[in-house]
Amino acid sequence: MPPKKIFLSVKNLSHAYHTKNGETQALHDINFDLFPGEFAAIVGPSGCGKSTLLDLVAGFIPVQTGSLVYPSSERPPAIGYMLQKDHLLEYRTIYKNIILGLEIQHQLTAENIAYVRSLMEQYDIADFADAHPHELSGGMRQRAALIRTLAGHPSFLLLDEPFSALDYQTRLDVSSDIVNIIREQKVTALLVTHDLSEAISIADRIIILGKRPGSIRSIVTIDFETKHRPSPQKARLHPKFQKYFDQIWKELKSDESIS
Ligand code: ADP
Ligand code: MG
Repeated sequence: MPPKKIFLSVKNLSHAYHTKNGETQALHDINFDLFPGEFAAIVGPSGCGKSTLLDLVAGFIPVQTGSLVYPSSERPPAIGYMLQKDHLLEYRTIYKNIILGLEIQHQLTAENIAYVRSLMEQYDIADFADAHPHELSGGMRQRAALIRTLAGHPSFLLLDEPFSALDYQTRLDVSSDIVNIIREQKVTALLVTHDLSEAISIADRIIILGKRPGSIRSIVTIDFETKHRPSPQKARLHPKFQKYFDQIWKELKSDESIS
């Protein structure tokens, strides 16, 4: 078999924050590859450097040590980012929120507007185009935030605990909804979460970080051995789900740092 094509290679990535109180080593020697179209998750205890890793990949903070390489593309891909807070602006309508990024980047072309409208139709938010954010449920708001992100045609999506502000039941529904959209769009995605069940229900592979300074303890491939990857809701009911949970939980516990 030919070697698998690599989308992103994270090589020897370490990171330290320098503050007036001294130095905090946040990440230590992180190495992993992402494959095109895969949905990977990073799990680890709070404070182990998950957000730092995502911020480095996003380019929000400059790389100090190590490198990020995209071997199969000449330039870094267009990156979309989703956070815990949806950052929808109350004074703008949902449509105006969704096109905000395009507006700022002077990309409000007829073609892009048509694309946004089609995404809003496809993902059942067109009826809320003229509503303001407070009129939408938490789930609908996250969906609007995702469509705003997709409007920029990202080929790489970074998600930092995007569901953790939602209550448990809503979180299950919304994460399924959002993940189904992301998989349909066939982008490569990297999700950070401290919720192990969420990671197993969503991801193709889970990168497990140990306590700060975060380093990789192991990488586990999630395979439900079904023809199509089950939806997050269905995955939670799959017999292999608990096996993966126990295996990874042990891994995290052996670090005695799960919080
Ligand atoms: P996680 O997302 O896994 O909870 P973070 O990446 O946010 O972890 O943080 C990792 C460590 O780096 C923590 O100890 C945190 O306090 C520290 N840290 C994060 N951001 C900064 C910053 N801007 N300045 C100083 N220290 C930071
Ligand atoms: Mg974080």
